[in-house]
Amino acid sequence: MAKKKKNSIIFNQAKRYLVGGVSSPVRAFKYVGGEPLLIKYGRGSKAYDYDGKRYIDYVLSWGSLILGHAHPDVIKVVVETIKNGTSFGTTNKFEAELAERIARAIPFVQKIRFVNSGTEAVMGVVRVARAYTKRDKILKFENSYHGHADYLLSKSGSGLLTFDIPKSAGVPKSFTEDTISIPYGDLLRLKKVFRRYGSKIAAVLVEPVGGNYGVVLPDIDFLKSVRGITKKYGSLLIADEIITGFRLNYGSAIQSLGIKPDLICLGKIIGGGLPVGAYGGRRNIMNNLAPEGKVYQASTFAGNPVVMQAGIATIKVLSKMKSNYEALSALTENLAGTLEKKARRSGVHLEVSRFGPMFSLRFEKKELFGRFYRKMLDEGVYLAPSEFEANFLSFAHTERDIKKTIDSAKAALEF
Ligand SMILES: *Cc1c(COP(=O)(O)O)cnc(C)c1O
Repeated sequence: MAKKKKNSIIFNQAKRYLVGGVSSPVRAFKYVGGEPLLIKYGRGSKAYDYDGKRYIDYVLSWGSLILGHAHPDVIKVVVETIKNGTSFGTTNKFEAELAERIARAIPFVQKIRFVNSGTEAVMGVVRVARAYTKRDKILKFENSYHGHADYLLSKSGSGLLTFDIPKSAGVPKSFTEDTISIPYGDLLRLKKVFRRYGSKIAAVLVEPVGGNYGVVLPDIDFLKSVRGITKKYGSLLIADEIITGFRLNYGSAIQSLGIKPDLICLGKIIGGGLPVGAYGGRRNIMNNLAPEGKVYQASTFAGNPVVMQAGIATIKVLSKMKSNYEALSALTENLAGTLEKKARRSGVHLEVSRFGPMFSLRFEKKELFGRFYRKMLDEGVYLAPSEFEANFLSFAHTERDIKKTIDSAKAALEF
């Protein structure tokens, strides 16, 4: 009898007390079937499971690790910082430094609040926007994902699409009464909604590049219209850049597209792989937050020195690599283009959606995605386990990784 794999043993242990064996739903791999990958450690572009098998990692902790796993600069400061204690619950100099670095990279950000996750960032920013405008309604776009706050869980992307949950159970109807969802890019609907509710809409939330319904390319004209219409009606524009911040360029993606929002949410990359979220924007809006204003939002661990240091180390490395983003994008374009070509040659309809170093894969039949996925995993390529989740390249990915991935795909596309 074959020796039972360590991966399986650990997953079975996990299932005993963790719901579905996971702490977040998409990790269970239900969309692609079979047992999920469990990662024991990572180095650069590679992740290793408990059986020592190596994978080229295109998930990168859901887009957090733009420098790859265990970047030496990040690990060094984390270890140094942690020796002096893990949390104090007081202001520390690292918070001040990370805030300054972010504000310098994203000039419309004058004030920042740090939190522990993207979800918290969106909850905080929406509360501030509502208080500042003295309005209740929020407009968002269908299939986008803004974290798991109750009122943002209708018609959302990411895991809700993966599991075909149009609206999460456990959310009272009254909680979503002030949330309006319309299709992205639908200018007529946007105008119509604003004509009807414009004076009640506190803010529009948008992912400048969609990362939770596959990769959705930005519609710049539409984004400009959203900016124009929000200004006209006195509503705020909030860019949810939890995926895109520092991912597509050194700073904000929406600003690089020529659009200036009022507020921004950040997360993922700015924590260097540790749990983080942040929101910020114009001083006169952000100053509505306590202790300056009357909007309450607090946290035990926010601005944690270890997290802040990991973030600073990451941002510092990125600040020296501003001109390298283009090459990362080109490498991703090469991968995406070649994958599509190989699929076509094998007579398979595969659509690769790409923007910058983000890409997603969609087959004509969902069932093919699962089969392709398992074969790629066997070949040592770890892709996002759903057509609705984005894949990412990090600065640690090499031409060799791309070549290996393409070779693996050639084999995996033979259905
Ligand atoms: C990941 C993500 C969130 C939620 O962040 P968490 O840290 O998982 O709470 C919100 N919005 C977008 C666009 C995201 O990609």
